[in-house]
Amino acid sequence: MKTKKTNVVRILICSWLAFIASSMAGESTGVGADDALSRLLNGDKRFVAGRSEEPHGAALIERRHALVKDQKPFAVILSCSDSRVPPELVFDVSLGDLFVVRTAGEVVDAVAVGSIEYAIEHLGTHLIVVLGHQRCGAVSAAVSGATETGEIPDVLKAILPAVEETKGQSGDPIENAVRANARDIAKRLQSSGPIIAPRVQSGEVKIVAAYYSLDTGQIELLK
Ligand SMILES: [Zn+2]
Repeated sequence: MKTKKTNVVRILICSWLAFIASSMAGESTGVGADDALSRLLNGDKRFVAGRSEEPHGAALIERRHALVKDQKPFAVILSCSDSRVPPELVFDVSLGDLFVVRTAGEVVDAVAVGSIEYAIEHLGTHLIVVLGHQRCGAVSAAVSGATETGEIPDVLKAILPAVEETKGQSGDPIENAVRANARDIAKRLQSSGPIIAPRVQSGEVKIVAAYYSLDTGQIELLK
């Protein structure tokens, strides 16, 4: 008898979680850029405070089920590949919420831009966040003029304009270059091609640069 009751309770909880999961997935449809940005910054506040509201365990499985046929991510995040800056965690969001492009130093090439364009054109996403972070290894290597082999020099070369731009500035040269790099990439994306640029001009798409502190977990918008 006790087992039956437990099973009924489990079924009710699972149904409720499925409803919540599908509602949350639906919430992402057509989220405007400003609302999307607020949602991200509020999520980061929860991450910093250690008060995640995102589904885990069985609830996450239900969320996955709710997303099998469609995705409507409410933001594109272009961020560094650094293992300490996973966008879904630092913004306290979940499956289906973010369309993420990650490269070392969040540098972009044609493939990265094409990936971002896909989210804008086909998934209806209105916000692009270019996320740099404290003590970025790729930026540090570019600042120090490190000699690398393989394809790593391509990454460093893409960061060099930010290094040059911030040379001689007061403060930490790596942090200055990290911030300049994120700002420069955001600025370049604003005038990028036939998909992004017109939507930025019409106000349909917003691009912001941001900085993540490894020390505090806080995200700061860069002006
Ligand atoms: Zn990095």
